[in-house]
Amino acid sequence: MQTTLFKVALSLLLIASTNVKATDLSDATNKSEQKPNLIIILTDDQGYKDVGFNGSTDIKTPNIDLIAKEGTRFTNGYVTFSVCGPSRAGLLTGRYQDRFGFNFNPTMDPSVPQNGIPTSEKNIAEVLKPAGYTSAIIGKWHMGTHPDLHPNKRGFDFFYGFLTGGHRYFPEELTLNDLSDVKYKFDWYKTRLLKNDKRVDTDEYLTDELSNEAVDFIKREKDNPFFLYLAYNAPHAPVQATQEYLDRNKHIKNTKRRTYAAMVTAVDDGVGRVLATLKEQGIDENTLVVFLSDNGGAKSNGSDNGELRGHKNLLFEGGIRVPFAARWPNSIPAGVDYDKPVSSLDIMATIVGQADVDISKNKPLDGVDLIPFITHQDQGSPHDVLFWRHVKSNSYAMRRGKDKIVKTANETYLFDIEKDHVEASNLLPRAQTSYNNLDESYQLWQQDLKAAAFPGLNDWLQSKPNDKKKKRKNKAKNK
Ligand code: CA
Repeated sequence: MQTTLFKVALSLLLIASTNVKATDLSDATNKSEQKPNLIIILTDDQGYKDVGFNGSTDIKTPNIDLIAKEGTRFTNGYVTFSVCGPSRAGLLTGRYQDRFGFNFNPTMDPSVPQNGIPTSEKNIAEVLKPAGYTSAIIGKWHMGTHPDLHPNKRGFDFFYGFLTGGHRYFPEELTLNDLSDVKYKFDWYKTRLLKNDKRVDTDEYLTDELSNEAVDFIKREKDNPFFLYLAYNAPHAPVQATQEYLDRNKHIKNTKRRTYAAMVTAVDDGVGRVLATLKEQGIDENTLVVFLSDNGGAKSNGSDNGELRGHKNLLFEGGIRVPFAARWPNSIPAGVDYDKPVSSLDIMATIVGQADVDISKNKPLDGVDLIPFITHQDQGSPHDVLFWRHVKSNSYAMRRGKDKIVKTANETYLFDIEKDHVEASNLLPRAQTSYNNLDESYQLWQQDLKAAAFPGLNDWLQSKPNDKKKKRKNKAKNK
């Protein structure tokens, strides 16, 4: 009797324990099968030194710094170009934008379907969609204004923001209903915001509004794998900030620098809210957050590239080396630096690698999955070489290990960028042979590139009347 009772008890115990184990296993399986979310927080024209994690002393960025503190800071983090449009095209496709003729900022002309990323190229949202991801772009698109190039046609399920390369920040200035209403240069910065294809109004300062939408998107999509491309236009010109953010930077005497700093403060608050939302929703451990700027600080927006030479639009480090950090608990080491060169091209390859997305039928990526490198499973370098081509100024640059070439229309430089990150000491003509070897690789690389697919914004601008000139003319007429 006792034996029978014992057997029954034992089998009940076994069933119970088996059930528990099965449930545990299924939870674990679900968790490991849940693909990681990706959030790219991209700022615009922010200087290398304009984050706390790169040594800013006047601008406080405690929330952006958390990404570096709880993740990895890239001290040699590059973008693929020194102005907005081509840099974003490289980031979003994981391929050098020169491969598809995206050499300039696109124009704002909605009638030209070539002005953007061609449909023959796939962006991150398009690549992740078949793997079950929901994607959003919140903020600046700048990848074409033609209806066929609209974010909703390019893999993004949700779009909140503007199609153009910049925008005004105060809601009362967003008065134009569409690009067809634009008559003067830069009036496209005044269009009402778009929620997918509908024009909408807000009463918030633009950066805060974009943060609101990002938080809402994360809450809506917390149960599904998602990709959020939070493309703040701050701190790109026009330099505009609310009194609240200005007051938090009143220690800065220079008015332009103070306003620029206030714009960065608004971004930093938004980053804090995004990170807090991930934690609240219990998804921060399964979310890769990457922070970077689309190019170096501009000459005229009050930014600071620290010791780096040059600024936006140049191929010296100040134009292409940007504040860059990534956080993903348990997958990315926390509070450390990674010093080998990495690129914005790597973001696509990293999520594709980590989410195990099949891209075998796509065009080959130029980026690589960074996780094996930053976890030191792979002691090699992510890139043997990185290239930059600036068609308009007839310039190019490349970096292989410690060597960097910068070739402008008038000058040729070779730097030891590890010893001389400020690019002060030109090793030419003494190291002519090294230079020739490097240059040969560049010449090989550029043979496969496409010619410009569309005219640049600056050429197109020449044909547009200037609002300021018009005002002066009217003033003179009324006198
Ligand atoms: Ca930019």
